[in-house]
Amino acid sequence: MITGTQDTGHRTQDLVLYNPPAMSRITDYKVLVIGSGPAGCTAAIYLSRANLAPLVLEGLQPGGQLTITTDVENYPGFPEGVLGPKLMDLMRQQAERFGAVFRMEEVERVDLKRHPFVVTTDQREYECYALIIAAGASAMQLGLPSERSLQGFGVSYCATCDGFFFKDKEIVVVGGGDSAMEEATFLTKFASKVTVVHRRGELRASKIMQERALANPKISFVFNSTVEEVVGTKEGGVTSLKIRNLQTKQLTEMKAQGLFVAIGHTPNTRPYAGQIELDERGYIILPHPHSTVTNIQGVFACGDVVDHIYRQAVTAAGTGCMAALDCERWLTHERITERWDLPKGEEERV
Ligand code: NAP
Repeated sequence: MITGTQDTGHRTQDLVLYNPPAMSRITDYKVLVIGSGPAGCTAAIYLSRANLAPLVLEGLQPGGQLTITTDVENYPGFPEGVLGPKLMDLMRQQAERFGAVFRMEEVERVDLKRHPFVVTTDQREYECYALIIAAGASAMQLGLPSERSLQGFGVSYCATCDGFFFKDKEIVVVGGGDSAMEEATFLTKFASKVTVVHRRGELRASKIMQERALANPKISFVFNSTVEEVVGTKEGGVTSLKIRNLQTKQLTEMKAQGLFVAIGHTPNTRPYAGQIELDERGYIILPHPHSTVTNIQGVFACGDVVDHIYRQAVTAAGTGCMAALDCERWLTHERITERWDLPKGEEERV
């Protein structure tokens, strides 16, 4: 038996390497990737081209957040733009071409205190020697049925991604935090008018972001109000919003061609709580700069699960590549790759 230690400067994690796997667990895949957005797919492309034959656990939203957008015009290599679902399909095909396997399973829990690691999904239990967590983040939604049905058809969660499509249009941004101020300010580059609708009488955003938005002549504010319904169709897009004043209870209809919901993001890290170091907002902490190594050796993280700043498909893809390279180097450095095809028990003698 070999023990490994990784001192990350945050917390030292002791691992017991090479416990024999339990018979009932699936041990066919030595490297698992959790998540199938740009980060997970890129990691899978690099891993499979390195003959590491990863299994990608796609989650319940295969392809991740890009599958709920329509046109993507800022992903390099597509001068005419590309549909979000199409882009994710292409990334998946590229990984499959080199041997990556995709399964639509949702991770429920992991045991990272033993090695091989144990990953339990809604369907099976796996053992793996290395793990890349690329589970992404979810934009928080208002929870309206009309919001859901018009996602990608006038309802958006990312101004950088979709602002360009709203040239000379009237837009509503929901939220009172820094994200809402940032999105509203950014959207004034395109929109003829931006209205921030906030549920309280005061903003939560930092003073400087508030001041910038309040001073912008294209931005107006509607306080103590919530969006109750998004009016429109998939064919014609959003045409107006029904807005309820929470103090007077009055319902008014506001003309708008776009709704940007900016009420925060939640990283999809619930299964890893207590197993891996998370920050106070639930994002996985990467203790070393320019590295996707987590505080647990053999576990790497990339994409929106570690990034609350950039949150772009291309940055996620870039860190997915980094995670695959970090993972491959770790497996080689620890001489794990040369052990894993040996009969159980034999690897201890290598
Ligand atoms: P946030 O600070 O949590 O603000 C979320 C806002 O959305 C709040 O105003 C909240 O209202 C509102 N909200 C939440 N749920 C809602 C719902 N169901 N319906 C209507 N409104 C709802 O989130 P954030 O703005 O995304 O910022 C997250 C973190 O990132 C913050 O620490 C922020 O400083 C940081 N950030 C920094 C920058 C920057 O510095 N450039 C940019 C973006 C974000 P209440 O106020 O009533 O709770």
